[in-house]
Amino acid sequence: MLFIYAGVFVSAFIWLWIIYRNDRYEPEPLKVIIYLLFAGGLLSSIPSSLCNVLFAEITGFMDSFINNKTHLLGNSELAVFSLFVGFNEEFFKSIVTILLVRKLKDFNEPLDALIYSMTVSLGFAAYENIQYAMMGGISTLILRSLTSVPLHIGLASIWGMGMARSKFINGNLKLSNIFKYIAVAAVIHAVYDFIQFKLNFELLSFAVAFMFAVVLIKFSLWRMKIYLYDSPFVGVLRCRNCGYDNPLNTVKCERCGEYMTFRFYKICIECGTRNGKTADRCCECGKAF
Ligand SMILES: [Zn+2]
Ligand SMILES: [Zn+2]
Repeated sequence: MLFIYAGVFVSAFIWLWIIYRNDRYEPEPLKVIIYLLFAGGLLSSIPSSLCNVLFAEITGFMDSFINNKTHLLGNSELAVFSLFVGFNEEFFKSIVTILLVRKLKDFNEPLDALIYSMTVSLGFAAYENIQYAMMGGISTLILRSLTSVPLHIGLASIWGMGMARSKFINGNLKLSNIFKYIAVAAVIHAVYDFIQFKLNFELLSFAVAFMFAVVLIKFSLWRMKIYLYDSPFVGVLRCRNCGYDNPLNTVKCERCGEYMTFRFYKICIECGTRNGKTADRCCECGKAF
């Protein structure tokens, strides 16, 4: 029992380190991260697992799950169930993340949206791991740490991108702005679950799950790297055209002359201040865009 808890902690903290080390220029306070991991994970995993159980009971799929016979279900039944699980889990993870970070003053750069969404989802996966490892033991925990944990983290980076855009381009964090990102993550999640249910957790299912995990983790690390370029705390402005590191107040690249452009900001040509994409005048000098 204690061994299982220790294993879940070790697995979670290794993944947390992989995420958190990317928050390089203005790291989030550790207490925020720990809070999101525990509170976010708990608040999202309880309602979504209740909904999963409720849905399985109503549809009569519960027996197939308890007895590991999901592969005997029809394809359309399996597809319906996978879609339900995918949407249900991605929805609760994202809504809880939005509610927890909406008023956070540390949420001050686009990269934070990825750090927050991935941390809450890691918490979610860790709570799931406790339940599964209680049944399947330490080998189940190791398998899940290499498949479903990175799956949950990677999928979170998709709606984390939506959160970053909603906050820094549209100006506020709204579920309606993020919904299409949640839908994309939910459909990928459903495809993953469908394959797992269909192959009924054989060796091939592990190979497919591992492939999903690698692709999604690579995707999220790549997004974090791109968002780091837009970080206002980086100390330099890297030119997208030639890669030259210009001082922070640069409007045109000092080497190639390109205008500095950002995913999330507009730079004032008068004073070099960063403004939101939707701003119609500079917040520092008042120049109209
Ligand atoms: Zn340049
Ligand atoms: Zn200005």
